[in-house]
Amino acid sequence: MTANERPLITIAIDGYSSSGKSTMAKKLARQIGYRYIDSGAMYRAVALYALRHGMITRDDSVNADALQKALPDIRIDFRLEDGAQHTILNGEDVEKEIRTMEVSRVVSPVAALPAVRHALVRMQQELGASKGIVMDGRDIGTTVFPDAEMKVFVKASAATRAQRRLDELTARGEKATFEEVLENVEQRDHIDETRDESPLRCAEDASVLDNSFMTPAQQDEWIMDLYSKTLSSL
Ligand code: C5P
Repeated sequence: MTANERPLITIAIDGYSSSGKSTMAKKLARQIGYRYIDSGAMYRAVALYALRHGMITRDDSVNADALQKALPDIRIDFRLEDGAQHTILNGEDVEKEIRTMEVSRVVSPVAALPAVRHALVRMQQELGASKGIVMDGRDIGTTVFPDAEMKVFVKASAATRAQRRLDELTARGEKATFEEVLENVEQRDHIDETRDESPLRCAEDASVLDNSFMTPAQQDEWIMDLYSKTLSSL
């Protein structure tokens, strides 16, 4: 099958925080010429907006009414720069700012609000309407694209994920301790798994990947193999 003959499909990659799903999803999209969308970045951008507009209280709870009212004023776009995806919030490149610990601390309570989820799920569905997309997140295979032809659910131990996240933060010059990052990872898992609105769970028809002991090269091979098998089964 040549690239032009390959049918365009929807690829949903869900999983736990810092499980490496974004790196894998991004690489797959590049290899097969698909658009990549990081849905977590969209929730992070809304959380940053809430922080900047005083909608987060001292104990990190969210002023849900104020945020719901502001949703029509929040515009999120993506721009490709030097091959990397940048998240744009109301015209401003916020790619770096949305990855800080401050945003990580408040993003899950923001993402648990039904009004936020409804607005972002609708945007995500529009972005993927013409297929040829790899989207990663928590509810892509269950809620956003329940009919996706290929679904992956990625997991790894909390300690492995916290170490990966700490390495990322350190590389970016941010100071954090392993304990602090582990606590944040576990807290986000808990909020994501127990919220009422589209909680994090593995879709019944997803292929599960536990990458705790896999190298990036092994993961890439695993996912390319799944992509080829998915195409041959259509
Ligand atoms: O993927 P990432 O860790 O950047 O996502 C940030 C947060 O956004 C997650 O911890 C989760 O609370 C929320 N999220 C979500 N649904 C998605 C993607 C992310 O609730 N589809």
